[in-house]
Amino acid sequence: MTNLTTRQQDYLAVMGIDVWLPKDAPLAEPRSVGWVERSTKSSRETHQAIKSISPTGEDAPVGVEPCETPRHKSPQHEPQNNDISILDWEALQTCVAQCRLCELHKTRTQTVFGAGNRNADWLIIGEAPGADEDRQGEPFVGRAGQLLNAMLQALDLARRDVYIANILKCRPPQNRDPKVEEVAHCGSYLARQIQLIQPKVILALGRVAAQKLLQTNTSLGRLRGRLHYIESTTAPVVVTYHPAYLLRSPLEKRKSWDDLLFAKKTLEAGIS
Ligand code: URA
Repeated sequence: MTNLTTRQQDYLAVMGIDVWLPKDAPLAEPRSVGWVERSTKSSRETHQAIKSISPTGEDAPVGVEPCETPRHKSPQHEPQNNDISILDWEALQTCVAQCRLCELHKTRTQTVFGAGNRNADWLIIGEAPGADEDRQGEPFVGRAGQLLNAMLQALDLARRDVYIANILKCRPPQNRDPKVEEVAHCGSYLARQIQLIQPKVILALGRVAAQKLLQTNTSLGRLRGRLHYIESTTAPVVVTYHPAYLLRSPLEKRKSWDDLLFAKKTLEAGIS
């Protein structure tokens, strides 16, 4: 049962999102606050959607690839058999910090490894660092990150409760889309992070993150509202809009809130 605290309701109101009603609560006319469009889909429908989930055959996993140890890597951090999948947190972080496997190392200020609780139930995965993240070395610290914080707070979660990472560890120039080879290299690092964290649910933010993680070209609209599975974990993946997109298209926040509740319900139900 999810009972919203006053604080959560306040955050939702600030985000302009209707308060979600528990399954057995009487349906009331949704409160529409601020700039969020009223949804024709009730929260109860979102609730029901969880019952009709089935993994799809088209979702290919993120694989663990052999680690091509960067040539400049110092011997003490060199993986024994060039296998990223055996690295502990410290060795993995060092490996990422020294990575030169793709051209992005030439333009980055620093790598953005990931941040948060390494034992988190929630793993949030974005696309790639932007300018702010490249400067500060932490994911989602810009305007999109502030909205992500508000989304988490609405779920009664703080950044320290979740782990946040990206498909890519380095900023692509001009924030262009990640290239196939960049995702291939960085995918191994992310796969190891997933194995180490052992999250209970993964939230993929935006089309690019979702498509790269699930190795599919299916549209974001079709990826939303159901559970997906990847190789590195039994945790289900839930897809929602990227906060940067929500800043540009605030009317979609309501749908994103539905997705967050779907993820929360999935986690609470212990679905894997
Ligand atoms: N957008 C992302 O996808 N990731 C970040 O870390 C910041 C912005």
